[in-house]
Amino acid sequence: MKKILLITGGSRGIGAATARLAAQRDYDAIAINYHSRSDAAEDLVKELQHQGVQAIAIQADVAKESEVVAMFQRIDNELGPVTALVNNAGILDQQTTFEQMSVERWQSIFNTNVIGSFVCAREAIKRMSTHHGGQGGAIVNLSSIAARLGAPGEYVDYAASKGAIDTFTIGLAKEVGDQGIRVNAVRPGIIKTDIHASGGEAGRVDRIKDSLPMKRGGDPEEVASAILWLLSDEASYTTGTFIDISGGRL
Ligand code: NAP
Repeated sequence: MKKILLITGGSRGIGAATARLAAQRDYDAIAINYHSRSDAAEDLVKELQHQGVQAIAIQADVAKESEVVAMFQRIDNELGPVTALVNNAGILDQQTTFEQMSVERWQSIFNTNVIGSFVCAREAIKRMSTHHGGQGGAIVNLSSIAARLGAPGEYVDYAASKGAIDTFTIGLAKEVGDQGIRVNAVRPGIIKTDIHASGGEAGRVDRIKDSLPMKRGGDPEEVASAILWLLSDEASYTTGTFIDISGGRL
C-alpha cells in the first residue's frame, strides 16, 4: 500500500516539523496544506523533494468545505488516496476575557479548528475505510492541553474548540474502529511556534516557561515525533486516545 500523508497547516510550526520528520520515515508522498503562506509551503516542499520524497503544496482554507473537497481530489489525482491525515491547522485570536469576545470570532475559531478537522476527517474516511474498498489508515488530531486547562483570560474559546476535538477523537475512533482506521490526538502544551504571536504575545513561551515543571517550552519536533508514532504501525492497537506533550503541565 502506498503511504500518502496529508498535513493540514503544514507550512509552519508543528505541521512543518511533522513533515520534515515524516520525510525520514517510509512515506511515499506528503501533501502540505497551507492557508496563505505559499512561500513557507513551497520552500518546505522543495526541502522534502530534496530528501527524495514526493511532495506537493496545496492552498486550501480548511474552514471552507469546497476547498477541502477539492484538496482531497487533487491529492487523489497527483499522489493517490490519503492513508494518513494530521488535522493540524488551527488558529487562536487575541488574548482577552470571554466577555469581550464576539460571535464572529467564535465562528472563525470553531469553523477552522473544529469543522475544518471534521471535513478533512470525513474526506479521509471516504478514502481509507475498508467499508468503501479502502485499505485503512490513521488520523491524528491536534488538540491542546488547553482543552483541560481552559485558557482563562486568554482564549477560552480556543480551549473549548480543542475540547470538542477531544470528544470528536473518542467518538470517531469508536465509530471507524472496524473500518481499519485509527483516530488519536496529541495535546501539546506550550510549544515554540508563531501561534503565540497571533494571540498578541510573541514572548508567551518565555513568560510562562519558569512556571512549567520542565522550566522550558517544547520544540515542534517533540510534538512531531508523537504524531508520527501514533500514525505508525507501532501504534497498531492504539486508538481513541491522547498523548500529552506538555512538559508536565497537566
Ligand atoms: P502555527 O505555527 O501558527 O501554524 C499554523 C499553521 O496552520 C500554518 O501552517 C497555517 O498556514 C495553517 N492554517 C491556519 N489557518 C488555516 C486554515 N484556515 N486552513 C489551512 N491552514 C491553516 O501553529 P502551531 O503552533 O504549529 O499549531 C499547530 C496546531 O497545534 C494547531 O492546531 C494548534 O492549535 C495546536 N497547538 C499548538 C500549541 C503551541 O503551543 N504551539 C499548543 C497546543 C496545540 P499559513 O502558514 O498559510 O498561515
